[in-house]
Amino acid sequence: MKSRILGFPRIGAARELKQALERYWQGQLTPAGLRTIGRELKQRHWQIQHAAGLTTVVVGDFSFYDHVLDTIMMLGLIPPRFAGDKDRDELYFQMARGDTTRNLPALEMTKWFDTNYHYLVPEFSALPRERGLVPEVLVDTKLARSAGFDPEPVLLGPITFLCLGKEYGGFDRWRLLPVITEIYSTVIAALAPHCAAIRIDEPILCGDIPNAVGATFIPTFRQLKAAAGSCDLLLASYFGGLGENLDLALQSGCDILHLDLVRGRDQVAAVVERLPERMKLSAGVVDGRNVWRNDYRDSLMLLRELEQKIGRERLQVASSCSLLHVPVDLTGESALDPGIRRWLAFAVQKCRETAFLAETMAGTDNAAELADNAAAGEFRRSDVRTVNPAVRHRCAALDGDMLRRRHPYSERKLQQQWLRLPLLPTTTIGSFPQTPEIRATRRKFRQGTITSAAYEDFLRQEIRKIVKIQEELGLDVLVHGEPERNDMVEYFGEQLDGFAFSAAGWVQSYGSRCVKPPIIYGDISRPRPMTVDWITFAARQTDRPMKGMLTGPVTMLCWSFVRNDLPRATVCRQLALAIRDEVTDLEQAGIRIIQIDEAALREGMPLRYCDREQYLHWAVECFRLATSGVADTTQIHSHMCYSEFNTIIRWIAAMDADVISIEAGRSDMALLQAFRDFDYPNEIGPGIYDIHSPRVPTAEEMVFLLRKALAVVPKERLWVNPDCGLKTRGWPETLLSLRHMVAAALRLRDEL
Ligand code: GLN
Ligand code: ZN
Repeated sequence: MKSRILGFPRIGAARELKQALERYWQGQLTPAGLRTIGRELKQRHWQIQHAAGLTTVVVGDFSFYDHVLDTIMMLGLIPPRFAGDKDRDELYFQMARGDTTRNLPALEMTKWFDTNYHYLVPEFSALPRERGLVPEVLVDTKLARSAGFDPEPVLLGPITFLCLGKEYGGFDRWRLLPVITEIYSTVIAALAPHCAAIRIDEPILCGDIPNAVGATFIPTFRQLKAAAGSCDLLLASYFGGLGENLDLALQSGCDILHLDLVRGRDQVAAVVERLPERMKLSAGVVDGRNVWRNDYRDSLMLLRELEQKIGRERLQVASSCSLLHVPVDLTGESALDPGIRRWLAFAVQKCRETAFLAETMAGTDNAAELADNAAAGEFRRSDVRTVNPAVRHRCAALDGDMLRRRHPYSERKLQQQWLRLPLLPTTTIGSFPQTPEIRATRRKFRQGTITSAAYEDFLRQEIRKIVKIQEELGLDVLVHGEPERNDMVEYFGEQLDGFAFSAAGWVQSYGSRCVKPPIIYGDISRPRPMTVDWITFAARQTDRPMKGMLTGPVTMLCWSFVRNDLPRATVCRQLALAIRDEVTDLEQAGIRIIQIDEAALREGMPLRYCDREQYLHWAVECFRLATSGVADTTQIHSHMCYSEFNTIIRWIAAMDADVISIEAGRSDMALLQAFRDFDYPNEIGPGIYDIHSPRVPTAEEMVFLLRKALAVVPKERLWVNPDCGLKTRGWPETLLSLRHMVAAALRLRDEL
């Protein structure tokens, strides 16, 4: 039985790609040197798949930066600002990272579906002017073949590619379809003699696609199939079920259809019922999005059901999606509690799982592996670490009053007077520059070369300094600056029960950047206060109001690997209760303004419109649960890192935070349209400068933006702040920008 994964993590078990890229960018590694490291990684990853027992190896999943960018290169869709006769390697990275010497901005970056991977957004403004690049996948397919593997090259499909880009200058992207379909056909025809199957990824099939786009799908794929000749064409959908797009997939003329049976399992009966006689099924049963071991018993049951319906010859076994979204290898994770480690599988282990399932279906006797898997599952279900009766009780006993502030905002707004805040109060989003000194000191503490007392002394000094600076700048609501936090989720996860941390569980976020998401394996509880000492220490340094800073439950959920034995909403509720306790402890300690960041609320939204309401319902409820335990006199803030609000503004209002701050600086206040169309009832601070760039905006610019905001937000409800935390900035630009920001607020305050 054929078996495959849809992609292996590119970054390397020791983040070799990251290091190579960074050396290359600093001029310490030649283009040839970089390519050698890329080749080594690819070959190593093929070898891993082969050794695991997979029948095929995937080719074309590797990329030096991003597979969407690779597709842009293949199609010759170079944005005009980068046009010209240039070295291709240079061009590639300039598109990815911008060109500072010529002041050319990089391509925009955005999230790949609902993952934390970011891709570079194609720009569509004209038909391709340049010849595309012969894609590396062609060379690699031959290479893998000659090394004795059965290669399965993958291309990002034309429909998804066009859907993921952005149009400029009134250009209609669909004019590109015939042109790029030609190029795809050429590439497919070139690949066909060297492999048994070519995979085309169309994850867009798992979202909502407009009818007009749907109509192009079948003819496009018929053309691609013609180019493939007798080579199989594998159409891959993932990140959900096919829903209303099922017919497009079934009539595509492709030889194999891949389904994500982790997320789209409900639909499998409907699919097999109607699967055309000559179409095979690639059953994606091994989760490519999470770190839990596969439940063999359950997967085999599903696979046997499928086998009965469509026959063994038509069944293949696969990972649900690319393994890009999980860490590379569990083997080295010796610091993880062995009990917990036994429940986990990273990419290397998932290769084996996929192969195991195919082998077992084909009749190989793997009884020992099967028994071990079943035992691990049993342990996990009955382990005291996964279930905390007190937490379960508390969740079961939630009542409606816990989801509501005591009085509506219209009565709470007197906070302004209680807190003695001026008109247009100024504040920041929480973090101040994380200097090399802060990072180095934290590293020393973690390595044990300085004591925790010395580390805490250092942090107190930092906080004192940051408070003083804010007083001198004349800010109205101060923060402690978050110097003690490495990361806004990890910091809290480390102090909560139910979280585990890998030592090297890196996952690519974009380019050379990786994140190490914590793992939520058990019920969440808070053994002791997490921030109260730091915040109250900061508050004692000043007479001005000190804002306490927390990360919200939805954001912690979105940026972690979440246990798969409870609904996400349930896990989120547990997180919310833990944060709620921290909020009330801060209040008890005299902190009157508390901000609970929900940076990720929007990105947690399901791909299909029809699923969104339900998500937003529980997500907003969790925020309210976390924040409603306080008196009316305590002011609750929240912060969100995005500016497209129009579709969810009602839900943002339903969060009922007294004050929200949002990203707006980059979009030139375009987001205010949402506030024009919907009368947002509470207070709001649209970010008036972009912290993602070192540029220092002038006070005039900020006055201009504030005036725009004042056209839609009443002056009593407008706050003045940057558009996100300042931790990635340097001090010089931070000081200047904040000085200008305070000046802008003062000027308008006088006028008003
Ligand atoms: N309070 C956090 C900070 O300032 C918020 C970060 C974020 O929104 N991503 O760093
Ligand atoms: Zn932010």
